[in-house]
Amino acid sequence: MRTQVAIIGAGPSGLLLGQLLHKHGIDNVIVERHTGEHVLSRIRAGVIEQVTMDLLDEAGVGARMHQDGLIHEGVQICVDGVRHRISFKDLTGKAVMVYGQTEITKDLMDGRAAVGAPTIYAAYDVALHDIFGTHPRVTYRADGKNHEIECDFIAGCDGFHGISRKSVPPRAITAHERVYPIGWLGLLSETPPVSEELIYVRHELGFALCSMRSHTRSRYYIQCSLAEDIESWPDERFWEELKPRLDEEARERLVTGPSIEKSIAPLRSFVAEPMRFGRLFLAGDAAHIVPPTGAKGLNLAASDVQYLWRALLEHYKDKSDAGIDHYSDRALARVWKAERFSWWMTMTLHKISENPFDVKIQLAELDYLFRSKAAATVFAENYVGLPY
Ligand SMILES: Cc1cc2nc3c(=O)[nH]c(=O)nc-3n(C[C@H](O)[C@H](O)[C@H](O)COP(=O)(O)OP(=O)(O)OC[C@H]3O[C@@H](n4cnc5c(N)ncnc54)[C@H](O)[C@@H]3O)c2cc1C
Repeated sequence: MRTQVAIIGAGPSGLLLGQLLHKHGIDNVIVERHTGEHVLSRIRAGVIEQVTMDLLDEAGVGARMHQDGLIHEGVQICVDGVRHRISFKDLTGKAVMVYGQTEITKDLMDGRAAVGAPTIYAAYDVALHDIFGTHPRVTYRADGKNHEIECDFIAGCDGFHGISRKSVPPRAITAHERVYPIGWLGLLSETPPVSEELIYVRHELGFALCSMRSHTRSRYYIQCSLAEDIESWPDERFWEELKPRLDEEARERLVTGPSIEKSIAPLRSFVAEPMRFGRLFLAGDAAHIVPPTGAKGLNLAASDVQYLWRALLEHYKDKSDAGIDHYSDRALARVWKAERFSWWMTMTLHKISENPFDVKIQLAELDYLFRSKAAATVFAENYVGLPY
């Protein structure tokens, strides 16, 4: 098989890149390790920035998002039982949207199927070849046979555990990492959200987040130890751990119910530099991970795709490699700002250190955030999405 761009991974970054390239006449094939059903079963991001909304529109798959997504003009932060609101609208004139990653993935998969662009699901032993040469190739096994795709470029959109980043010689790549000693235990339930806006909770028992996917579906998280086993968390135990972290009003309004999904996610900050290696580009979680506190992972994946699809368009249509040559620097400049914000939110809202000095610093950071319009504006600008 021959294509212009071979894309590894059918997560949001791979599917979005594929859709944008296809729309502009650039041939591409997506190779995905799992089945489509498995990809759609993963419950992850819920908050999207304007950049992501704009790209989904550009890709022609934004209709359902505009119909079902919930616009949020602010966010609430509860510190030891007292809630504070930060208005994105007043401070930046912008807003974010709550629309689940699962729905975005479904919209992108449907869009791809509608235009007949090829995706190979359940592709095993995916391997990348000749990324620094002139004839890059991707090989894989599917249906019990070996296959090969010849291409001009490879886009590594295969997430943190994917093969693309690992295909780069160690001397060519630098990894920066911080692993936090905590995780998020998440529960999805068919219950109305406790509030119209997200509530981030800083509490001496540990962090919590009251989030949602719709007016009838809620997503809650509590901070947990990395040693936790999901089997030892029946729903009742989750609700009992969540309640004391909330303020009184939220506790009274909380509607509990059976979980429809429950999982534990570790918290990690990670950046691989650079993001281009010859004819291989990394995008999304393949290149960087943020702890989910700042709701930035999916949005960063979208902003990488924004730089990458335009660079590839310039290459094919304008015969210019300027975008390709600058892809890594442009993407990383944005990545590091999102890393900073996600790290700051994580360190400020979680129970990470028992040292009273660290606790006092956390409280001082939050007090400043609530009292200073300048600090609140910086927070809001970061949350709704930094400009390009
Ligand atoms: C609990 C949680 C909450 C989050 N909340 C938010 C939020 O509110 N906002 C936000 O912006 N982000 C959030 N994120 C982050 C967001 O989910 C990720 O950043 C996003 O999924 C990245 O998309 P991606 O396409 O780059 O990678 P992925 O979604 O990981 O997709 C990669 C794809 O590549 C495939 N793959 C892997 N290896 C191979 C291989 N060898 N060969 C072929 N295919 C392969 C995988 O199966 C997968 O389908 C959250 C994450 C978690 C865990």
